[in-house]
Amino acid sequence: MRIWCKRITEQATRPTWLSDPYFKLKPLPPTPDDEICSCPGNPPLKLMSTALLGENPIHCLRCNLEVPPERLRLSASDVDAIAHWRTVYGAIDSLELDSGPYEGWARSQLLDPTSPPNLEGFEVSRRLNAIRRCYFWFFQPEADDDYESLSVCPIYKEPLVAYDDGIFPQLLCERDSLVIAGGYRRDDDEEPDDPTERMNEFAVNLAVVADSQASRDARVEAARSLGMSNDTRAWDALFALATDQSAAEVLAREVGQALAEIAYRIRDRGKPVVRGQDENFLLRDFTEAAFAAYDLRTAELKRHGQTE
Ligand SMILES: [Zn+2]
Ligand SMILES: [Zn+2]
Repeated sequence: MRIWCKRITEQATRPTWLSDPYFKLKPLPPTPDDEICSCPGNPPLKLMSTALLGENPIHCLRCNLEVPPERLRLSASDVDAIAHWRTVYGAIDSLELDSGPYEGWARSQLLDPTSPPNLEGFEVSRRLNAIRRCYFWFFQPEADDDYESLSVCPIYKEPLVAYDDGIFPQLLCERDSLVIAGGYRRDDDEEPDDPTERMNEFAVNLAVVADSQASRDARVEAARSLGMSNDTRAWDALFALATDQSAAEVLAREVGQALAEIAYRIRDRGKPVVRGQDENFLLRDFTEAAFAAYDLRTAELKRHGQTE
C-alpha cells in the first residue's frame, strides 16, 4: 500500500504556506476551520499530545478534531496548566517520535502511568473533566508492527470498554478517564495465514476507499484498515483523487494493478476465492475485475515476451 501513500502525498493540494521554504521557522498558521470539531451536542473531550506539532491538545473524542479552548470557557489557571503539560509532555513525546538515543527513555516515561508527564496529564484531564467529560489519551506503541490493543487498563487492569462513536475504534477506562486506540490486533488468531481471506478483506477495503459514493466515514475506516496514513489531509487528497476526472485514469490503473496482484496470489494458491461472509457484492465485482485485470496484465506481459 506504499504506492497509495506516496501518490496521496504527491497529489495533495498543497497549502499556500508550504510553498514558503521557511515555513518551519515561522509561527504556525491558525487551525483551519475543517480541523475544528463541529459535532452536535457536547461529545466527550480527550487531552491528547501532538508532540508539539500543534498548540491545542484538547480534542473531540468523537471526530478527533480540535475543540477551541474558548468554547470551554477555560479559566486562566486552566490555560496555564494545560499549556504547561503540553510543553513538558510534548517534549518527551517528540523525543519518542525522533527515534534517536532518547527514544527508549521517552517511551518508558510515556508508558508508565506514574511518570511525571502522565500524572500531570491525568491532573489536567480532571480539570477539563469538571467542564465536560474528558479522557486522557494514554500513549501506546501503536506504530510497532506487532502492536496489539490492550484489553485491560494499564493502571488497575480493569477491562477497557469500546467507544465506537469515533472515527476510529477507541477503548476507554471510565474509572481512570483514560483512552487508548482500539482495533489493533495481530493476525495470528484462527486462520493465521490465509492469503485468500486477507486478500478478500483487502479488496473490499480498496473498493470502499475508491468508491466515491461511500460515506466519508466508511472510506476513512477502510483506509485505516489498509494501513494508510492517519493524516486527514492525505485522506482528503485521496478522496479528491477518486472524484477527479483527470486523475481517474491513473487511479484506475493503480487499482487495476493492485487487483491484478491480488488475483495473481489467489490463482497462485490454486484454491477458489472465499467470498466475504455476507456474499459481499462489492467483493464479487472486485474479484471479477481482479481476474480481468490479471488476464489483461498477463496478456500484456506475454506480448512483451516477459513470461514463458
Ligand atoms: Zn467533534
Ligand atoms: Zn483504569
